[in-house]
Parts: sequence; C-alpha cells; structure tokens
Amino acid sequence: MQLTDSLGRTINYLRLSVTDRCNMRCSYCMPAEGVARKCHDDVLRYEELHLIAETAVGLGIEKIRITGGEPLVRAGIVEFLSRLSNIDGLRHLALTTNGLLLDKMAADLYEAGVQRLNVSLDSLKSETFAAITRGGDLDRVLAGLDAAEKAGFPPPKINMVVMRGVNDGEILDFAELTRSRGNSVRFIEYMPVIKEEGWQRYCISGEEILERIAARHTLEHVCKGAFAGPSRDFRIQGARGTLGIITAVSGHFCGECNRIRVTSTGQGKGCLFSDEQVNLLPFLRPPSPANLARALRGIVMAKPQGHHITNNGYEHQNFTMAQIGG
Ligand code: SAM
Ligand code: SF4
Repeated sequence: MQLTDSLGRTINYLRLSVTDRCNMRCSYCMPAEGVARKCHDDVLRYEELHLIAETAVGLGIEKIRITGGEPLVRAGIVEFLSRLSNIDGLRHLALTTNGLLLDKMAADLYEAGVQRLNVSLDSLKSETFAAITRGGDLDRVLAGLDAAEKAGFPPPKINMVVMRGVNDGEILDFAELTRSRGNSVRFIEYMPVIKEEGWQRYCISGEEILERIAARHTLEHVCKGAFAGPSRDFRIQGARGTLGIITAVSGHFCGECNRIRVTSTGQGKGCLFSDEQVNLLPFLRPPSPANLARALRGIVMAKPQGHHITNNGYEHQNFTMAQIGG
C-alpha cells in the first residue's frame, strides 16, 4: 500500500520520538538548563508507541527512525526495538543517537534488529565538542562508532550541524571521514529553534559547505536510495562513504518530503516547522486502531506544501528539537 499526501508526495517514513530527555545539552538544540521534564504519564508507553508504529506501517510507512531526546537513555529501549523490528511490512528500522551510550549498547541494538545508526557529531576536537554539547565526552562517542561497526553495523551515518565560527573549520575533516573510516556524513544547516539573538550569524548554506569541499575534492553525484531523505548526496572519488547536505533552511526540499513525525507525548506532526499538530492520545488511551489510522492519515493529508522559516517575521516556535526528535 502506498501512502500519498494531498500534493502527491509519497510518505513512507515515520520519525518516532521515544523520549524528550537527553544526557547532553547541545547548544543548538536545548537551553543549558534542559527542558521541563514531562511527567511520567504524559510520555507514551511502549505499547502505545508500538501501536502507532504498527498502524503507520499498515498505512504504507516502510521506514521508522527512532529518535528523541536521546533514545538510548530510555529504560527498556532494546526490548522495544526488538518488538518493533518484527512488525510485518516494516522494511527499515533506524535510530539516531548522540552516541554517548553506544559503546555499551551497540551489540544489543544490532541484535534487536536495528539496521542503521545515525550518530550526531559536530566536532572532532574534544574542546569544541564539549563546548557545543555543554560537557559531552568526544572519546565516548568515537568509541561508540567503533563499537557499532564491531557489532556488525555498517559505518554509522554522521550528522554534523555546521555553525559558522564554531565548527565550520572542520568541514573538510568530516568530509575526510567518508574516505578514512567509510562513514557517510550529512552536513546539516543550523536551524533556528533556540530563541537566541543573532542566530543568523551561525548559518552557513549547504551550497557554501559544498563549495568548500568541492574546492578540495572532485565530487560525484550519488543516486538516492529507496528511503532517502532530503539530502543531496555526493561522493569524493574513491571514498566508501557518501557526503550530503541537508538544506533545511536555505533549500527547498519540501517538494520531496517523505516523512511525518510523532513526539514522545503523542503529538503527530506533518512538518517539523509547523505549529500544526494532532493529539493522538485520544486514540491510544484506550487504544482505538481504526481511529488512530484515520488520525495518521489526516496528518499526512494535511502536510503543508512547505515551511516558512526563511520568511521575514518567522516566529520561533515554542519547542526544542529534543521535544520533536529532529
Ligand atoms: N539525541 C539524538 C541525537 O542528537 O542524534 C537524537 C535527537 S536530535 C534532536 C536529532 C537531530 O536533530 C540531531 O542530528 C541534531 O543534530 C539535530 N538538531 C537538533 N537541533 C538542531 C538545530 N537547531 N539545527 C539543526 N539540526 C538540529
Ligand atoms: Fe540531546 Fe540530541 Fe538535542 Fe544534543 S541534539 S541535546 S544529543 S537531543
């Protein structure tokens, strides 16, 4: 079954957030003091998350990415993933993590049926990494990358949020990882989700990132895979990994958007940057699969044509990325 929105876009990808808690405090994602903790009852139980996943797959979703907050801090996550990977019709189960707990958990995640890991990593310099993440330990993340491969995963995809004056001097070092370690690297434009004065100073367009890499390397275009997201992908000649730019801010990839999102508190969203959300709790407590399916289909049909974050007068919304799952 194919799930198509009102503009004819195929929607086959669900980003499912399992928690808004995190063991890091990345400066671009949440305030230093963190976000107000949801009370236990507000966060979806695993049975509820499973029902959402199963229902979405029944509608035509083929890929699910588990995200957060930091998904690996939630107790019972491995057992949950194991159940998820057994959903009939789910073709691809992926997880996005900051990597801090990966060295301990990689083998269990592989065993549970997770097929692909994305690791968010914004600097290869310990001090810069600690500054961006407000105290994160780079060595643990690097150990996590090694552990993932040892466990049997393909080299994890690395997501780097590029910020001018903070880590843009490392763009070429990250591009080099596609050759030296075989990781695929996605360069993500900094998005204004934290209400910070003068946020524009951090922005570097995907085009500029690409130009800086192309000035040093010959890049080949890479054809997109079945569940490819909105990145434009390239390969340095001879490299095992690919590199891609995600131009969420400067680009206009909305025409190719293939995803919906559900937060850990059961809010369904058709667009990361839209205020529109649908409360799925009434269809989960008590469970009502038919109504849940109707609500998920409604989210797909109401997906906006595009976002407006580059418009003058764009108002920061009252959320953090950790609450939605990126
Ligand atoms: N904790 C996990 C992690 O960091 O990978 C998963 C959740 S995190 C919210 C998902 C993704 O959102 C990460 O790759 C992170 O870099 C990205 N992200 C968060 N805030 C962002 C921002 N302001 N601009 C661009 N990307 C952002
Ligand atoms: Fe946590 Fe991920 Fe947000 Fe960093 S980007 S604070 S690791 S949720």
